[in-house]
Amino acid sequence: MAPDAALTARHARVEAAVVEACRAAGRARDEVTLIVVTKFHPASLIRDLAALGVRDVGENRHQDAAPKAEQLTDLPLTWHFVGQLQSNKARAVAEYARVIHSVDRASLVSALARAERPLDVFLEVNLTDDPGRGGVAPGAVLPLAEQVLAHPQLRLRGVMAVAPLDEQPRAAFARLRGVSERLRAVAPAATDISAGMSNDFAEAIAEGATHLRIGTAITGERPPRP
Ligand SMILES: *Cc1c(COP(=O)(O)O)cnc(C)c1O
Repeated sequence: MAPDAALTARHARVEAAVVEACRAAGRARDEVTLIVVTKFHPASLIRDLAALGVRDVGENRHQDAAPKAEQLTDLPLTWHFVGQLQSNKARAVAEYARVIHSVDRASLVSALARAERPLDVFLEVNLTDDPGRGGVAPGAVLPLAEQVLAHPQLRLRGVMAVAPLDEQPRAAFARLRGVSERLRAVAPAATDISAGMSNDFAEAIAEGATHLRIGTAITGERPPRP
């Protein structure tokens, strides 16, 4: 069955906006990976996205993601885990996710390093003033990066963040870009920046994002948390 027309139209609209934001920033479209965040949506929606050419999908809760990944093993998808991750779920998440965007503490690094297969990881940076929010403080990124680099089965890709609600996203993403530059001084291969959601992806592209995590602008409203 062909994917539904509204989904097809939203996907095309976002893709066109990504192309335009890349053009405005003087960047090539292929520098940017579009991850469609499908959390709380059914496996059938992910199948429709795959039919539209989507290859990267993002999920933020293991209980929600695992059964969907299991139903969709026939599709050529890369699963990205973008949510808070408890260390005791790390091995289970690594069974389907190849990229973890939310690494924010040493205990999680150790847990991921014990997974059955190699993983790509991003360090999540807390761009707010609230230490209770997810992510490592900008000043603690380098020591955490050293922990990741000590494990050959973890490939450090770069930094990830969510823009704070009370700040212009462009300013927040500019700070993330600064953190990325400092990280590259100790980990030259960790060049990626995971930033930009439905409402701020153009600003993220302007500040060098390489991985966009876009949900509702493509999927439509999320069903309530299961
Ligand atoms: C849900 C989520 C997104 C996508 O958010 P939208 O506003 O729906 O685009 C991106 N990143 C993370 C970490 C998320 O939890």
